[in-house]
Amino acid sequence: MRRRSRHRFHDDAAMIEVPRPTLRLRVDAVALSDNWRALDRLSRPGRAGAAIKADCYGLGIDRCLPVLHDAGARDFFVAHWQEVGPALRHIPAAQLSVLHGPLSARDAAYARATGVRPVINSLHQARLWAEAGGGACDLMVDTGINRLGLRPRETGDPAVAALTVHTLMSHLACADEPDSAMNAAQLAAFREVVARVPHREASLASSAGIGLGADYAFDLARPGLALYGGVQHPALAGAISQVAFPEAAIVQVRELEPGETVGYNAAFTARAAMRVGVVSIGYADGVLRCWAGGAFASQGRPLPILGKVSMDMIVIDLAAAPELDEGDWVELPYALAEASRETGLSGYELLTLLGRRFG
Ligand SMILES: *Cc1c(COP(=O)(O)O)cnc(C)c1O
Repeated sequence: MRRRSRHRFHDDAAMIEVPRPTLRLRVDAVALSDNWRALDRLSRPGRAGAAIKADCYGLGIDRCLPVLHDAGARDFFVAHWQEVGPALRHIPAAQLSVLHGPLSARDAAYARATGVRPVINSLHQARLWAEAGGGACDLMVDTGINRLGLRPRETGDPAVAALTVHTLMSHLACADEPDSAMNAAQLAAFREVVARVPHREASLASSAGIGLGADYAFDLARPGLALYGGVQHPALAGAISQVAFPEAAIVQVRELEPGETVGYNAAFTARAAMRVGVVSIGYADGVLRCWAGGAFASQGRPLPILGKVSMDMIVIDLAAAPELDEGDWVELPYALAEASRETGLSGYELLTLLGRRFG
């Protein structure tokens, strides 16, 4: 017997029009595609891949990955095994590497079954991979950041000699500080490993490393942030465009009288009569309280944030845009360099914080 659903609404849901979202994230696919092409050019004599971890830095793998693939990217990187399934809806397994590598036999078996490449980060992982049957893998050598990766001296171990290394890689700690001595030191250490460990391709630079020039290019760069609009190095400044544009609807307009306050802790007091808008976005959507004091915008006109940021809403001054009314949209200025200065958050944080309620 068919159980009657307690949630009758769901039975009928197909026939009901779903309300329109009151916040949206516009992803500029042309900018994303152009950014990849620019980074690919700047990666010569090598080429650019793409870091697509964390749901393409919060912008949505289903939206971004097909664009990157169409632009010409063929080498993709996720961090977690859970990120493999969503990526394989769009790209062949041979184009995907998993940066965290296998922590268990189960992870190694999953890599074998799907055909993605694990990035081997330790002798333990090298042995796990061999025990699972092995095959092409990538190898991360830690040349100084002291996160994931084997120490250079460990690469002489028989467990490493037994690997079939496709991409031999390392990761720079200070690439966004062009004058740091650490860059040259890591480059020298990586060159030494590249000369000694058999591999098909070598890869050192991520977004900021691409700005360090051809010495750091090797065969493959692994940009992430710069694809999505972050300028990590002055050399990239002219080449990279904004990709993410968060927008939210005004869900209520209010007229304040002089002396009235706005929001939690009455943090803003109106000095004169003013027209304000309640905007449908808040810290649950990634617009953290550090945005207080900043502004939304409409056609280039700033609409200052009044008082505190709430979970689901923010109140803004509509004085500069008197034509705006309930249901109209305003933009959160999200050019990453400026938004970073405004909030103290990095471009990485600004993108990956964006919540799940965007339509
Ligand atoms: C995240 C990551 C990248 C991409 O870094 P960006 O700074 O976003 O360009 C490249 N390589 C590794 C190993 C990473 O973890």
